[in-house]
Amino acid sequence: MAPSGARAAVAAVVDPEIRVVTIDELGILRSVDEDPATGRVVVTITPTYTGCPAMDVIRADIRRALTAAGHADAEVRTILSPAWSTDWISDAGRAKLAAAGIAPPAPVRADGPVPLALAVRCPRCGSPETEQVSRFGSTACKALWRCRSCQEPFDHLKAL
Ligand SMILES: [Zn+2]
Repeated sequence: MAPSGARAAVAAVVDPEIRVVTIDELGILRSVDEDPATGRVVVTITPTYTGCPAMDVIRADIRRALTAAGHADAEVRTILSPAWSTDWISDAGRAKLAAAGIAPPAPVRADGPVPLALAVRCPRCGSPETEQVSRFGSTACKALWRCRSCQEPFDHLKAL
């Protein structure tokens, strides 16, 4: 663990598509290590959705945050295994997503099929009476849903 502010600087980087949550809260950030001898910082991240163009932006934002915190010598590594899952989103991240009107994905259960129709609740009124309108919401990572109770459309983060 980095002794200085390197981890705090990286953890504060927000997701470029869902700007209310940080990459730490989304579970994208895996580790921040600082070499005590050289001061070099190595950041490890795991991409979220395949095809999400945000990862290049996230890498650039991490470098910018580290440079601003006095860690110009930094490397951002991407690891694909274990694969990111929506289970990695922290409770704080889920609460922020809900507050922003983005339905947080239900935790993926390892045992048996997940009743998807029951997993998506309206972030505004909490009603489970929702339907998918389009597989593609405002970004590739989100689907557009609509609440049958309050009629409000909302973005649903696709669960993996
Ligand atoms: Zn509703």
